[in-house]
Amino acid sequence: MKHSIQKTTRPESPLYGRGLGEASYFTLTELTASATAERLAIDNTPPRAARTMLTILVEQLLDPIRRRYGSPILVTSGYRCPALNSAVGGVPHSHHIVGCAADIVGGPRSTEANRHLFLLIVQMQREDRIRFTQLIAEQGYRWLHISYVPGMLRNQVIDVNTNDDVNVKNKPTSTLKMDYQDSG
Ligand SMILES: [Zn+2]
Repeated sequence: MKHSIQKTTRPESPLYGRGLGEASYFTLTELTASATAERLAIDNTPPRAARTMLTILVEQLLDPIRRRYGSPILVTSGYRCPALNSAVGGVPHSHHIVGCAADIVGGPRSTEANRHLFLLIVQMQREDRIRFTQLIAEQGYRWLHISYVPGMLRNQVIDVNTNDDVNVKNKPTSTLKMDYQDSG
């Protein structure tokens, strides 16, 4: 099944194990789908621990953001097994490898929509509605990277387009770039 930005009933692919089911806008399928994995015949099936993290990512961030955004959000890259992460040029300790990160674009697909989505997420954090580990607006707002690592919710916001490295609440003691060069 290819990426779909439509919310449809999809009984074939609920985020199993934690019961997101029909209430969620996102499926395990779209959080693990990868054209690169298909092309290279890489098995990108997430282990149980990564599935749990994906579920938390959806519950804590993707679903609340999607509800507020009011339009479809497409996940262009979610979980990546180490082989896939290498294949797409992800950084070695990418949060994608543990199921804690997703690259997203706002619908309808445009850099304007992505910029709007970026500002909306920052706003939601300021209102204390969500917490995240990192939010990165990639070059030209082609996509946003967002991660949720339990115990590391430092709300770090990076916009590479404006060179802003704005930590919304708790300023980090060091500059962390573990997913700065993220791609895919
Ligand atoms: Zn990413």
